[in-house]
This record gives sequence, structure tokens and C-alpha cells, in this order.
Amino acid sequence: MAYLDHAAATPLRPVAREAWLAAVELVGNPSSLHSEGRAARRVVEENRERFGASLQVPPSAIVFTSGGTESDNIGVLGTFRARRRDDAGRRVVVASAVEHKAVAEAVDALIAEGAEAATLGVAADGVVDPAAVKALLAARAEEVALVAVMGANNEVGAVQPVAELAGICADFGVPLHVDAVQCVGAVPVDLEHATTTAISGHKVGGPAGVGALVVRPGALVTPLVYGGGHEGGLRAGTLNAPGIAGMAAAVERAVAEQDAHAQRLAALRDELVAGIVASVPDVTVNSRPSGHPGIANITFAGCEGDSLMLLLDAAGVSVSTGSACTVGIPQPSHVLTAMGASRRAARGALRFSFGWTSSPQDVADCLAVLPDVVGRARRAGLLERGES
Ligand code: PLP
Repeated sequence: MAYLDHAAATPLRPVAREAWLAAVELVGNPSSLHSEGRAARRVVEENRERFGASLQVPPSAIVFTSGGTESDNIGVLGTFRARRRDDAGRRVVVASAVEHKAVAEAVDALIAEGAEAATLGVAADGVVDPAAVKALLAARAEEVALVAVMGANNEVGAVQPVAELAGICADFGVPLHVDAVQCVGAVPVDLEHATTTAISGHKVGGPAGVGALVVRPGALVTPLVYGGGHEGGLRAGTLNAPGIAGMAAAVERAVAEQDAHAQRLAALRDELVAGIVASVPDVTVNSRPSGHPGIANITFAGCEGDSLMLLLDAAGVSVSTGSACTVGIPQPSHVLTAMGASRRAARGALRFSFGWTSSPQDVADCLAVLPDVVGRARRAGLLERGES
């Protein structure tokens, strides 16, 4: 058995479980003023400090949310709406072509509200060119409400030059939203300079259903959810105190171990990629050694990624595809097509991702079954197309 889908969700870390359990029996609502409420509030605020200290951001900059998707939505929709309310001429939202759907579909929602989207293309390595951002802002900064570029891509691991982009955006007075969901504990991310940064609990070994948006002081952001004025008025709703405690513990551990962890993951990733290239013909490696240390992405010519993923699952290996089915029809990954892959090739890609519980045994288990599985998938593909 090999679990190679840590970029989708990584197991709960023992420290996170302990912190979550210690808070889960609390009865108080953190907004109540009686002693039970104050006890719950204490858990939230102590963990806000802990989370902030781990990521080197002031506790007051942290808005707790239900996860990465909500954080991205507040960062993109909330920033756009606040800026446009201030200046109706700011109707352009700039986002990279490889954003997660949590950002990409928020941009689509803004288009329906009358926004104009400007998409930043990427090179074959999945990375945005800062010069393109600079040229776009030089021409249109007055119209741009925000720029959104992710820290590390969830499908191919491409790491974006966030610090440089933040500098360019700051020079033009344009806010930058960074989706750092795949970064924490794996890829250094410049939280200080982005205007808003999205983080998710279950990608770092915390519980699912909790996340955070780090909002730089002075940033203009409107809430998406109203009622109660929680989190500085930016995100109403009773706080998930145990989830926050679990996430803060996980983030603290992940950040403390980041360097050693990244080295260990990169070694596993490189071993897997080398093993696949050596044992399976006709593959294209879409990820780069310079990318996220725990993410490998490979196209298997002549295969459907979804079939391959299901065959691997039956063989005890869990991976994922970048593609998504729309009304039952497999769609190619928008990330791979943005990087220049053909639609056909993009449908034959798999993501293998490592995390804190990964071991060399996972690599060995995957390599033990993959050549046979790919061979079967290719033969099935040929049969379906009537080529055999
Ligand atoms: N952004 C990226 C880059 C992701 O990989 C994910 C999840 O896969 C999300 C956002 C959404 O995070 P969550 O699952 O916490 O809603």
C-alpha cells in the first residue's frame, strides 16, 4: 500500500491530534463572555499567537476560515469588491493560468459581476514571468483591482517568484493574493509582502475544515459572509476552536521541520521519478526538481489518467490526476495545457505527492506495480480505439 496523494490531504500529525483533542470537549462559544466562552476564546487566541509566531506574521493579521478554498475566495472576491467599491474603474483581475479552482472559479464569478480577467501565461516549467506582470501593470495598473499568483502549484509543483511579484505589485500599488496552500512546511513563502495569503489546515497535517487568510494590515478586503462581526468583521461565524488548535500545532511542527522535510521529500520524489523513467517507456516528466519537493507529475503517453489512477488504486497505490470530469467526460488539466501540453497528453498525467508520513517503501511499492499497470492501461486504450 502506498499513499501518494499528500497534496490532496496529508495525515493528521500527532501534535495536531493532541491539540485538537485537548480543545474538542470545550463547551464554550469563543464569542460568549462567561467563563466557558472565555476558555474557548483563550484557545483561539493562544493558537492565533502560535500560528502567527510560526509564520512570522502578527496575530492580528490572521483571519481563521474553513479552509484554503474559503481563504482564496475572501482574498480574491473580497479584495476585488473592496477595491472596486472604492474606485469603479478598477475592474481588472489578473491571475495566473495555473491557479487552483478556488482562485480560478472566484475569478469566473467576478467576470459574471462585470470584471475583466487578464490571464498570466506560464512557461513550459509552469512559472509566471515577472516581466509580463510588470508590463501589464505598467500599462494598466490604474484599472487593476488585484493580482493573484499561487506560491506552489498543486498539480506540477511549480514554485512562483512570489517575493519578486510582490515587489512589482507594491511598486504599482496593486494588491497581491497568494495561494500558499501547498507551501507551508515545504516551500518558503513570503507572507510579509503578499497582501492576502491563503493557508489550509489539512495540507500540513492539521484537521480538515479549517484554514486561514493572512491579511496585511491596511489591506482593503470586504467580507463574503456576514453576521456577528467575528475575525475583525472579515469572516462571520462561530470559530472552530479545536480545528484552529490542531492547525496551529501542525503548522508549528511543519515550519520547524521544513528544511529537513523538504530535503527528505525531494529525495523520495527524485527516486520515484528516476524509477518511473527507467521502468516505463514513453513518459514525460512535467514537474521540475526546482519545484515543490513533494510533487511529481508525469504524463504516460497513450493512457487516460483517470483509468490509470483507478488501476493503481486497485493495486494499493493512491495518486491523483489533474484532470476533472465534466459531465462524465475527462477534461485535460488546465495547468498542463497552460504549460504547453496537448489536450491528449494532459489527459494522461498523474500526480504523485509525498508528505510527512512518506517513506522509501512508498516509492518501492509504487514502482513495483506501475509498469504493469501502465502496460494494461495502454493495451486497454488501444483496444478501445480499435488499434489492436
Ligand atoms: N489551493 C490549492 C493550491 C490547493 O491545492 C487546494 C486544495 O487542494 C486548495 C486551494 C483548497 O484548499 P481546501 O481543500 O482547504 O479548501
